Amino acid sequence: MNLRPTIDFLLNDWLDTAALAQRERFADHSRETFDAVLDTCERIAREKYAPFNRLVDTQEPHFDGEKVILPQATHDANRAYAESGMLSAAQDYECGGMQLPYSVEAAANAFFACASVSIGSGMLTTGNANLLMTHGTALQKEVFAKNEFAGRWSGTMCLSEPQAGSSLSDVATRAVPDGADFESDPLGPRYRLKGNKMWISSGEHELTENIIHLVLAKIPDADGKLVPGTRGISLFIVPKKLVNTDGSLTGVRNDVALAGLNHKLGWRGTTNTLLNFGEGKFPVGQGGPLGNGAGAVGYLVGQPGKGLQCMFHMMNEARIGVGIAATMLGMAGYYASLEYARNRPQGRPIQSGSGGAVKDAAQPQVPIIAHADVKRMLLAQKAYSEGALALALYCARLVDEHHTAGGATADDARLLLEVLTPIAKSWPSEWCLEANSLAIQIHGGYGYTRDFPVEQYWRDNRLNMIHEGTHGIQATDLLGRKVLMEDGRGLQLLGARITATIQKASAIPTLAEHAKVLGLALQQVSKATKGAWSTGNPTEALANAVPYMQAFGHTVLAWIWLDVACKALQTDPQQGHAATQGRIGATRFFFHYELPKIGAWLAVVESRDQTCADMPDAAF
Ligand SMILES: Cc1cc2nc3c(=O)[nH]c(=O)nc-3n(C[C@H](O)[C@H](O)[C@H](O)COP(=O)(O)OP(=O)(O)OC[C@H]3O[C@@H](n4cnc5c(N)ncnc54)[C@H](O)[C@@H]3O)c2cc1C
Repeated sequence: MNLRPTIDFLLNDWLDTAALAQRERFADHSRETFDAVLDTCERIAREKYAPFNRLVDTQEPHFDGEKVILPQATHDANRAYAESGMLSAAQDYECGGMQLPYSVEAAANAFFACASVSIGSGMLTTGNANLLMTHGTALQKEVFAKNEFAGRWSGTMCLSEPQAGSSLSDVATRAVPDGADFESDPLGPRYRLKGNKMWISSGEHELTENIIHLVLAKIPDADGKLVPGTRGISLFIVPKKLVNTDGSLTGVRNDVALAGLNHKLGWRGTTNTLLNFGEGKFPVGQGGPLGNGAGAVGYLVGQPGKGLQCMFHMMNEARIGVGIAATMLGMAGYYASLEYARNRPQGRPIQSGSGGAVKDAAQPQVPIIAHADVKRMLLAQKAYSEGALALALYCARLVDEHHTAGGATADDARLLLEVLTPIAKSWPSEWCLEANSLAIQIHGGYGYTRDFPVEQYWRDNRLNMIHEGTHGIQATDLLGRKVLMEDGRGLQLLGARITATIQKASAIPTLAEHAKVLGLALQQVSKATKGAWSTGNPTEALANAVPYMQAFGHTVLAWIWLDVACKALQTDPQQGHAATQGRIGATRFFFHYELPKIGAWLAVVESRDQTCADMPDAAF
């Protein structure tokens, strides 16, 4: 529907992405090559993803005792995605990549998320391989990362355990050296792993020849004890099937067993698994440090004890990816409910008459889009999802700046990303989920049935506040770490960018009032940040971290909308195009209906309100 023009406007008019082609890394690129990538992804998403979104929801993955069965459509979509080259799009030409800017890659992936987030594109595989390209040895890159980029193998991220979700310091999977020669394995220091990993996405399937698990585990000390905290966590490559140094399979299955599939609320096209590592179900050899061949063979990545740092290396992009998934589900619901609202006749216009509002039953019914309340729900969805998309692409551009701008610009981009990433992940997770709820509301009773797509969007989207750091954890990260880091320089940088937009918008009559209001909001956020930390007591400061993140996020989104509106009016001052009217309408909506909410959120932050923290357990 409107997605491509929206992406084109944001990438080209607003972010001037073509200017990246002036950088050495992107020198072979141009607006034309970026468009070609978008065209291809849009087409594959339309042909291989969108038609099967409901099918993958109803035909959940199942285990037949030997294999996990997924619909043929998932295999086809997966193959088409790999063949498009998107798995390695950002990589060097020598690695078979396209040296594509991350902002274009992120925009192109948005088409898949909009068409069927549930089938999934290659986010985990790309993330896994990218991590190895940064932290792996030359052979680990050659053997594991390159086969993942080629789509021959896929990747997972195995962090969570049944007893260790948000608190990764409590990871209990153990890794012990595998024999006296463990350090001389060409694929990396070889260990045997034992433990359980919970919630592992794409942990088992037959979509690819092999699955490369990246696993967090602890190496016990000389007394056999695990080092408490995150310091003791290391990272290992654990292939499902063991491989030779030339990338061929050895024919030996590694000791990684599927303990069960999780049956999810949504996002059912992708398997989610409990994996047992090293329980001896698939012994490798006969002896080994755990006896009888038990223990999953794993190769250390990077230094022992630095596993979490390696994982966090890819977190910014992974979190922007989650934000885009949430955003695109919001967008899909918006498009579905917009179409429905245009076609559903119900009710008549309100007219003034004696005794208040009256309706003329002799008149034909109007489509529900004619009712102000339905327009409110549509505008909210538009403001949430298009605003979130703009934020995601802005952050993706910061990734490009960080990687290729050099000097102070690159460093500023790094720091701004630190501050904005919790918002890029969490804000769409909350508000584009709300958008999905409004899409159901617009459908009335029909929205509550499986005959319309919107209930699935809501179910699929409900995950995003939970994984990749829950809402509460992201909020603590924002208020407890990000706004304080480097003496608050990240927050100052953000303030400077917001102020620049305010100055620009102040000179445009349509936007001048919004500019003033945004200035006040920025002051409120700054005051509340100081208030929260005024006693220096983290327990008091962080008790209201989520309301803080909500207010911070709404202020950021108001800034993004105002900046987008400036560009829209610069290109179409008379608002002659419906798209410009739409952008100005959404900006106005955000400033009138959404931004005022920050007052209530920030009040409890600034006063360090302890209502929640003080509530005794027994009083609930
Ligand atoms: C469908 C799905 C896919 C997933 N995919 C993967 C994957 O591929 N790889 C992987 O490793 N993991 C994956 N996860 C796991 C996911 O990252 C965890 O579920 C998440 O980190 C939360 O952990 P938990 O479920 O143990 O909840 P808990 O950590 O027990 O949290 C429960 C609640 O308590 C709150 N809470 C916990 N600690 C604190 C605290 N200190 N302060 C304030 N509040 C707190 C949380 O915010 C949350 O609301 C996936 C999860 C799901 C549901």
